[in-house]
Amino acid sequence: MKKLQNYIAGEFVNPVDGEWLDVFEPATGKVYTQSPASTGADVQHAYEAAQSAFPEWSGFTAERRAGYMYTLADLIERDLTRLTKAESCDTGKPIGVARTVDIPRAAANFRFFAGAILHSESTSHDTDGQAINYTLRKPRGVAGLISPWNLPLYLLSWKIAPAIATGNTCVAKPAEVTPMTAYLLGELITEAGFPPGVVNIVHGLGDPCGKAIVEHQNIPTISFTGSTAVGKWIGATAGGMLKRVSLELGGKNPNIIFADADLDQAVENACRGAFSNQGQICLCGARILVEESIAKEFSARLVERTRKIRLGDPSVDGVEFGALVSREHLAKVAGMVDRAKELGGKVLTGGKRYAPDSPRCNDGYFYEPTIITNLDMQCEIQQNEIFGPVVTIATFKNEQTAVELANSTAFGLAAMIWTRDVSRAHRVAQAIEAGIVWVNCWMLRDLRTPFGGAKASGVGREGGTEALRFFTEPKNVCVKL
Ligand code: NAD
Repeated sequence: MKKLQNYIAGEFVNPVDGEWLDVFEPATGKVYTQSPASTGADVQHAYEAAQSAFPEWSGFTAERRAGYMYTLADLIERDLTRLTKAESCDTGKPIGVARTVDIPRAAANFRFFAGAILHSESTSHDTDGQAINYTLRKPRGVAGLISPWNLPLYLLSWKIAPAIATGNTCVAKPAEVTPMTAYLLGELITEAGFPPGVVNIVHGLGDPCGKAIVEHQNIPTISFTGSTAVGKWIGATAGGMLKRVSLELGGKNPNIIFADADLDQAVENACRGAFSNQGQICLCGARILVEESIAKEFSARLVERTRKIRLGDPSVDGVEFGALVSREHLAKVAGMVDRAKELGGKVLTGGKRYAPDSPRCNDGYFYEPTIITNLDMQCEIQQNEIFGPVVTIATFKNEQTAVELANSTAFGLAAMIWTRDVSRAHRVAQAIEAGIVWVNCWMLRDLRTPFGGAKASGVGREGGTEALRFFTEPKNVCVKL
């Protein structure tokens, strides 16, 4: 079995302590490789490589940096098939999802930020004819980038791309359960000809590996995507060290269906928004809120549509719904559904494990797409993120109660609104506490827009100009005329 290695200073290296983590294929429940169980010593090596690459890389013209990134995007697309297989095997997601979403979007991230840096503008202010103020933006040094398992290459590249486009170098840590595509990215970075040390990738557990990045004295910028619990610790720790931090955290997103919605579209997208990637997308619509007058019809149609999702071995083309990412996560999801039942929740469909019709998947982490109703909005199931294939349906009487229910959790990441009433769409979008509101659509993304959550869903924004600002230090120069 070939072991994965850390990617430091352009070389693949073993972890200093010689310790390894088993990596499981979720569809089979079997170990298929091992990855480094890195510690602070590995992070220190990665930091040193990044630090020594920084003067040269930050001194390159934007055009030169963009050139490497465009080449990398081309290589990701060239290796679409290989990366797609790796991502599907690593995560349990359907191969079609990896092929059409994760991998193309990773290439798009590098291409987008390569272009963005070429077209970014600086500002200047004419101070009443007495002075001119202009603002310089310089890279901040070595960036620490920590990402989760649900969209591994996509979310890691979403951080690496703006960091290096702006002239930073980085130490990146993918999630320990899904290390494979990050490992392969190292090969492509070398092939693209990047100077060694611009991107360093260390694998390992959150504690000690991620922790060592957050607590490193000389890594001044931390970009983290993951759970709210870990985000709170990172915010407190990095804040105490006066680091700049971006936290993209959990969600419990409302999907609001008004009676005047295009019901075909609303049902189709409620299903997609609930169960894509087995419900393991932070932007999934986990709480469906339906106007009372159409609740019966909507629920029946959603259940019917959900039962048509093609479940199965994620490596088989055409399968739409695969395995959950890990045994632990499967246990968490199943436990929350059991708890929902104890609280009086009525399971309309799903609610149990299943084995796809494929012998290799007998021990895989499969759980049916599940819809639950009859739960109080204040109960723990409605208030906490499940991050799996489980959605709840609740009803509302009018626009005001819809907004109150939508805003009644600690989270504020995303929301969906389905209505044909344009004024209402704008009104409700304004009233919802969330970083992104989709009206009559879901997951339509423009990389130029600010991305991130409000309340317990995060601090700061990624995307477009926000990311370019995050990774740079502004300096104002005031010149007296
Ligand atoms: P997690 O917080 O357990 O882990 C995320 C990453 O942080 C992993 O790489 C992990 O190893 C690392 N980590 C864990 N403890 C750490 C520590 N003490 N110090 C430094 N790093 C540490 O989250 P997860 O289970 O991998 O991902 C699921 C969560 O991510 C969900 O809550 C989901 O909503 C969220 N998520 C948010 C977004 C977003 O954009 N807002 C996107 C995807 C996922």
